[in-house]
Amino acid sequence: PMPPGRRPNWFHVPAPQRSTHGKSTANPKTHFDEVEQSLRELNLHTVCEEAQCPNIGECWNGGTATIMVLGDTCTRGCRFCAVSTSASPPPPDANEPFNTALAISSWKGISYIVLTSVDRDDLPDGGAGHFAQTVKYIKTLKPEMLVECLVSDFQGSQDAVCTLAQCGLDVYAHNIETVRRLQPFVRDRRAGYDQSLRVLQMAKEAKPELFTKTSIMLGLGETDAEVLETLQDLEQHNVDVVTFGQYLRPTERHLSVVNYVHPDKFKYWQDVAESMGFKYVASGPMIRSSYKAGEYFLDHMIR
Ligand code: SF4
Ligand code: SF4
Repeated sequence: PMPPGRRPNWFHVPAPQRSTHGKSTANPKTHFDEVEQSLRELNLHTVCEEAQCPNIGECWNGGTATIMVLGDTCTRGCRFCAVSTSASPPPPDANEPFNTALAISSWKGISYIVLTSVDRDDLPDGGAGHFAQTVKYIKTLKPEMLVECLVSDFQGSQDAVCTLAQCGLDVYAHNIETVRRLQPFVRDRRAGYDQSLRVLQMAKEAKPELFTKTSIMLGLGETDAEVLETLQDLEQHNVDVVTFGQYLRPTERHLSVVNYVHPDKFKYWQDVAESMGFKYVASGPMIRSSYKAGEYFLDHMIR
């Protein structure tokens, strides 16, 4: 493994296009400013900020943002994830679905929203009802907003998956994260490869017009044959969209990066997945599940 902190030169991405915070009037107000201000006013949290995602300028100015609901404490402990963990996180805020929808519907520049959360195994429905309520409010307040939910496996619960799949959302996303062999080393023991495949299929069956979407991290020691097998399994479970990104170690207490995958290899997986018939593929070192998620859907699929 490469020593922590040393990254290959293809990781030198431009700094996000941040606002000037009133210091200058030379630049027009961007979508970035608009979203940032409203988040602060409503005390909402984005993954974009919490994870210090380097794509923030591009995404927010391009019309996509990722909002976290259901709090910041997860009931699981995956070895690649820096979120804090507890067996009994504080109860969800009952006003959050409406407040979130109100904020989102006020953003003129944002046309595609990703809602995501920590895993809430402590809640009877895993939080599916809370997500569904949020989506319903968003669709009531701003029907043209496209909504993706990036959710847990809900422990394989068909009820939870159907509640969410049938609530009016546009894209159902659940990440398989890695190849079959590496699952127990990477994900919490309650997660699993077959369970993730099953929930993606269940969502599609619950509402066939939905787009189903998943994400694979590379750089954890997976072989090409294993990545190909994962793509084949996803295809057999009718997954529409797949994204590939480089695993980055959030802190030294987390799993090491085994290798930094070359951009050419990301391009290779993009070509392979496209030729297999996935409807949309995004693949590159800095690609995150939600990276500019809206662009393709707005341009090609949903409208
Ligand atoms: Fe992080 Fe999700 Fe795993 Fe929780 S379930 S530890 S939020 S990756
Ligand atoms: Fe936010 Fe996802 Fe874009 Fe990063 S890639 S800025 S987390 S929407």
